Amino acid sequence: MTARMYYDADVDPAALAGQTVAVIGYGSQGHAHAQNLRDSGVDVIVGLAEGSKSRTLAADAGFRVERVAEATKTADVVVLLVPDTAQKAVYDAEIAAHLRPGQLLMFAHGFNIRFGRIQPPATVDVGMVAPKGPGHLLRSVYTAGGGVPALFAVEQDASGTARARVLAYARALGATRAGVLETTFAEETETDLFGEQALLCGGVSSLVKAAFETLVEAGYQPELAYFETMHELKLIVDLMYRGGLNFMRFSVSDTAEFGDYVSGPRVTEGVKAAMGDVLTDIRSGAFAERWIAVQEAGGDEFRELRRRDRDHQIEQVGAALRAQMPFLSPVVVREGEAQAAASGTPSGSGPAPAESST
Ligand code: NAD
Ligand code: MG
Repeated sequence: MTARMYYDADVDPAALAGQTVAVIGYGSQGHAHAQNLRDSGVDVIVGLAEGSKSRTLAADAGFRVERVAEATKTADVVVLLVPDTAQKAVYDAEIAAHLRPGQLLMFAHGFNIRFGRIQPPATVDVGMVAPKGPGHLLRSVYTAGGGVPALFAVEQDASGTARARVLAYARALGATRAGVLETTFAEETETDLFGEQALLCGGVSSLVKAAFETLVEAGYQPELAYFETMHELKLIVDLMYRGGLNFMRFSVSDTAEFGDYVSGPRVTEGVKAAMGDVLTDIRSGAFAERWIAVQEAGGDEFRELRRRDRDHQIEQVGAALRAQMPFLSPVVVREGEAQAAASGTPSGSGPAPAESST
């Protein structure tokens, strides 16, 4: 099965001609959507809360900024780009009452639709363009003439124009320069959550900690264990990124490659069954229910989980070692703020952007 890709030539930008797009939220995704759409000739306004800190930023970039309710009334297309955890409250308070038949309600991630947090009326179109990259890249790659690939989906087509408008939106974002592929809200949401839980964030950090602890508990030096289990991981991942597992195996020693084949499966025995359980909880809504309950209870459990891992030995050892390697632009995270770690950090290479596409 090969997915169909859509490129610029497959998409008619006229589907958005004469329409006004209200970008709600001006954060990582919001600023990039607003600016790319405008540069592609789309009429854009920005919707923000009265006291939002982003107001000055959006106004300084030359956008007409309105309150969310006003922007919703003005626009033909409303794009909800506030954090997923805030979307329901913003939708309930400022958007739901003002939606008109034929408007297109857009998302960049399917969580709130997939789990029924937001249930738009049947009279509006519901669509998604989910860029496969963080907002600052979405903007800088577009400015350089390229595009960030994206997924698109149509959940509801009340007007008969939903698909054409969603594709035109993807084109105005620059995404069809790189290629977009069609999905559903369910597929995008479930695979996104699975990827970040089972592998990218959860799986990898658990493996790293387990390997580090195994070495340290066996009496090896923690600094050496850090280099072996965290520092080198990037070098290996970079090889996979460029040429797959085959290029990684081509680049490492034959001993490393042989060990990969015979010991890798021992380490991950039972892993697919566990991953299956994680996927089951995502699809049943059990994970979403738990996460929403944690937030509605004030977030104490989330903060406690964060606190428990924050001071892991690998984090302390790693911070000290990275501070001596300014060339890798080390970053220290405290209370949700990311700051450059070493005074010797070259100018202009400040903290890594605190955002990602997961
Ligand atoms: P963000 O946290 O960067 O910014 C959200 C903006 O929303 C803020 O700048 C502010 O203007 C506003 N805002 C914040 N809290 C608010 C609140 N309580 N009420 C009203 N407005 C509020 O968000 P983001 O990372 O750009 O995410 C937006 C959407 O894009 C989400 O659905 C996310 O899943 C999706 N997405 C993000 C990325 C990414 O790389 N960040 C990639 C793909 C998809
Ligand atoms: Mg994700």
